[in-house]
Amino acid sequence: MANIKAYIITIGDELLIGQTIDTNSAWIARQLNALGVDVMKRVAVGDEAQAITHALDAALAEADVIFITGGLGPTADDITKPLLCRYFDGRLVVNETVLQHVKDIFAKRNRPFLERNMKQAEVPDTCTVLFNPVGTAPGMLFEKNERMVIAMPGVPFEMMAIMETAVLPMLQERIKSDAIVHKTTITAGEGESFIAEKIQDIETALPEYIKLAYLPNLGTVKLRLTAKGTDATLLSAEVQQWQDKLVTRLQDIVIAIEDVSFEEILGRLLKEKQKTVCLAESCTGGYISHLLTQVAGASNYYKGGVVSYLIEVKENLLQVAETDITTHGAVSEVVAKQMATGALKLFGADYSLSITGILDKEPVEGETVAPGTVWMAVSDGRQTVAKMFRFFHDRQRNKESAATMGMLLLWKFINGKLTV
Ligand code: AMP
Ligand code: MG
Repeated sequence: MANIKAYIITIGDELLIGQTIDTNSAWIARQLNALGVDVMKRVAVGDEAQAITHALDAALAEADVIFITGGLGPTADDITKPLLCRYFDGRLVVNETVLQHVKDIFAKRNRPFLERNMKQAEVPDTCTVLFNPVGTAPGMLFEKNERMVIAMPGVPFEMMAIMETAVLPMLQERIKSDAIVHKTTITAGEGESFIAEKIQDIETALPEYIKLAYLPNLGTVKLRLTAKGTDATLLSAEVQQWQDKLVTRLQDIVIAIEDVSFEEILGRLLKEKQKTVCLAESCTGGYISHLLTQVAGASNYYKGGVVSYLIEVKENLLQVAETDITTHGAVSEVVAKQMATGALKLFGADYSLSITGILDKEPVEGETVAPGTVWMAVSDGRQTVAKMFRFFHDRQRNKESAATMGMLLLWKFINGKLTV
């Protein structure tokens, strides 16, 4: 079967004015990509009949499956449902299963069931209802000339629930005959051009049905092999061989051979070595601790962290010497090292990571250190290594970069790959 082509239309005025970030289409696109469905286009339109109709016309002209989110609520600004009803020549009828479900939800939340809510149980008689297990607005599937239009509510977790329970299994069933295999290798510390240079011969030798994508992101580069064919088992074995070649060639910089987050990689490493870690964070304000604790089972290796934002906290909790702060400044090698050793003592962990810096892009008044300067240190009690970084974006992005580089520093240190 030829590849299924998809189109994603997100609806809502809030998307057009930038009030809500359109995370729905990114999430849907990721799911579709994993299934091997090609997303041709993503468009956002306002809650406006003509705009929605145009988008639908364009989508139906070239895509096999069209995903729509938004505009399914019970309020007047939500016009997607009546519009789809007209578009597919139906009329709105109450669906008993949905009605019961909506009533149950209201009863559970102890809210009165209003006449207006009755509308939520109405669906066009030309659609198949896609049950919404976590909310009141059902999803709807319309089929016309072998094309599918799938409309879902805009609330992300409701959309996801409908996708996961109803839509994705159905799509999977339809494309069973196609096999698609992804294998991801994650590298750290080298840029994509360096990598491309190193693996040039392997890349050119790849068969036409196996593609290699470079996905760089803050200090790491993901190398994703994607193969399309008919036999998943054979294909998987073949892609594995190519991945092995890449991993052997890049062994010094490979940090993972599957698509996982850095905090997960670090977590696995610590768990495998049965070691614990603690943090002393200044400029990242606990963000690295937050990331590490996003991983289930983090209590196996994460002991805790100090957010030592003010000088007094660095001195009192982490035993950083006052004289060193006065002499070298809070953003310095000496202070980063003392923060790392101080945290190690405080938490009794095997490793510590400390971070102190200025995340602003513009010079800060009364600050002699250049904006974007960050000192980090890692320690295991015997050895303490510090490194300086410069980041050049806004606070938020610099914080993200600093967190990634910090975790990378720790990863290298634990693996004995960090040179003093
Ligand atoms: P609606 O189904 O249009 O009533 O949308 C309900 C809520 O879902 C909106 O207020 C938004 O906060 C959120 N939302 C709608 N569309 C999206 C989208 N494309 N991405 C993320 N959130 C969305
Ligand atoms: Mg809306």
